[in-house]
Amino acid sequence: MQIRNVVLLSHQGAGKTSLTESMLFSSGVIQRLGEVENGTTTSDYDPLEIERHMGINLSLLPFEWQGVKLNLIDTPGYADFIGEVRSGLRVTEGAIVVICAASGVEVGTEQMWGDAEKTNLPRLIFINKMDRDNADFFSTLEGIQAKLSPRCLPLQLPIGSQSDFQGIIDLVTMKAYIGATSQEAEIPSTLQEQAEASREKLVETVVEIDDELINKYLEGEPISNEEILAAIKKSGIAGKLVPVFVGSALQSIGTQQVLNGIYSYLPSPEEKDAFVAKNASTGDQEEIKPNSESPFSGLVFKTTADPYVGKLSYFRVYSGAISSNSQVLNANKNSMERIGQLFTMLGKNPGIEFPKANFNMSIQPQTKSDLDKMSTFLPRICEEDPSLQTRREVDTNEFIISGVGDSHLEVVKGKMRRKFGVEVKLDLPKIPYKETITMSTKAEYKHKKQSGGHGQYGHVFLELEPLPRGGGFEFVEKIFGGAIPQNYIPSVEKGVNEAKQEGVLAGYPVVDVKVSLYDGSFHPVDSSDIAFKIAGAQAFKKGLSEGQPVLLEPIMNLKVTVPEAYTGDITSDLNTKRGRMLGINPGNGINVIEAQAPYAELLRYATDLRSLTQGRASFAMEFDHYEEVPAHLSQKITTDKKKAN
Ligand code: GDP
Repeated sequence: MQIRNVVLLSHQGAGKTSLTESMLFSSGVIQRLGEVENGTTTSDYDPLEIERHMGINLSLLPFEWQGVKLNLIDTPGYADFIGEVRSGLRVTEGAIVVICAASGVEVGTEQMWGDAEKTNLPRLIFINKMDRDNADFFSTLEGIQAKLSPRCLPLQLPIGSQSDFQGIIDLVTMKAYIGATSQEAEIPSTLQEQAEASREKLVETVVEIDDELINKYLEGEPISNEEILAAIKKSGIAGKLVPVFVGSALQSIGTQQVLNGIYSYLPSPEEKDAFVAKNASTGDQEEIKPNSESPFSGLVFKTTADPYVGKLSYFRVYSGAISSNSQVLNANKNSMERIGQLFTMLGKNPGIEFPKANFNMSIQPQTKSDLDKMSTFLPRICEEDPSLQTRREVDTNEFIISGVGDSHLEVVKGKMRRKFGVEVKLDLPKIPYKETITMSTKAEYKHKKQSGGHGQYGHVFLELEPLPRGGGFEFVEKIFGGAIPQNYIPSVEKGVNEAKQEGVLAGYPVVDVKVSLYDGSFHPVDSSDIAFKIAGAQAFKKGLSEGQPVLLEPIMNLKVTVPEAYTGDITSDLNTKRGRMLGINPGNGINVIEAQAPYAELLRYATDLRSLTQGRASFAMEFDHYEEVPAHLSQKITTDKKKAN
């Protein structure tokens, strides 16, 4: 049986889910058309998706259409879920790009188009919602040709528009197809002339790309519809042409033509360039033959966690056959794996480039039982979605979850509640400030209690010196002549170490200080470990207060990749964020801006950058070093922290 693996792409809301539903309906898989509005579609099955009225996970829908097996992947449209989209692109041979006839090409469409372009994925475009107010086929087509590619070629024309939209004209067969049943009819006379002109344009474009057809055409020989179909398909696979369809998913007009189009214009696995993978035993790159006689190879492209079923892995078979209770080699782990468990087959890096998780929030379970459940289920959710990460921030003692943006993390929070009954709170993370001193000081402390009974006596002199940034913390002993007996020195150090956990300014850990214990005294009866510990801690605190303490903040290295036109906006925004430019590397219309900025200014950078560039930029950020907080900001941080304590 012929196979087509197809991914649906669009900006959020253009109608992928509705088109999927309409296809399933047209092919008889479902008896009734589900609607996105009342949450009855087949692909939006997660209760959370139904509530948000948008697909957030990719869903896999296999069905048959006139003897062809279609594996359709519906992807989420929102930029936060681009990881799911890339997974979809990775395992298919073709894409349907859905574009709304009223809103035209939107940012999300451009982004996904770019991703599809990178992998040279054959596409067809469906201009949807022709029945909507403000729907305009020709201006949408113009936008497509201007913003996506001039190679997008209409194979159809709409009959009527908006509330008067009735059907489509197929420019290859030169027939009209009316209504949800796709009733074949003659082209309406009012559109006859336009249809003929459009067909001529179509034929000219197609033969111009095809060397064989151009000669025939120039010699005046007739070109058959079959030849046109074959040439469109060939040019589509070669990336020279993208057929454009039109219709209304909601009314199921044009859906059957799209289904036929998938078969006619998008390649089967054999027709697409051969897939290359590493042979695990020889290490050689080999072409994989997509037939059932070849050895088995596959790629897990999605794993989901379900509270009832457990872990499910979706995989694409590239060659051979697989049966349950068999064993396969997991090329990632280089070990045998029983079917039914997670495995990936195509070398170390499965080649799905997941977006960077660089929007961080602290995640706080609301109760003890939420804490327990969170530690069980959060890892499962992260496994499902490789653009999520979690870690414990030692300095602030917070549990941090990183995702692509705030709505991505909100969805995770909702999912934890719906699927697993875990309540959590999300907050911007705390900044791991530190404290240090800026000048050397000496401090003395005598801990003495000698009124009645066993007394306490510990007496130390400390010298505190600032170390260069990143110098850490040092404790040295310089006692001469037994001023303090050797066995009490570790107690002094212990006292200092405990005291350095909370600085005197705002209670942040103290770093970059060298402490020398250079003198002191003791009492033969009253001195004790605890007395010297207290003396060490108190002397250290005194020294800190006198050493002109300052706050330190983490400074991050930032790399922003952005279309040239936005460079100015990005740099001036970074200026308002106390950023420091390190350089701009230009390349092919895209600039990579390198800068440093304080972490405190970058907490919402993922969302700031998205709104500055309408989602056209990406960034990476990593900790570089600590720096002194400017005095005017330090005051506020100190008061805020004291208030919070
Ligand atoms: P997705 O985010 O791309 O999956 O888009 P949906 O399929 O969820 O559709 C978004 C909204 O557009 C829903 O309210 C649909 O009912 C509506 N919609 C989808 N297709 C059509 C159409 O052909 N005509 C009209 N008028 N509305 C549509």
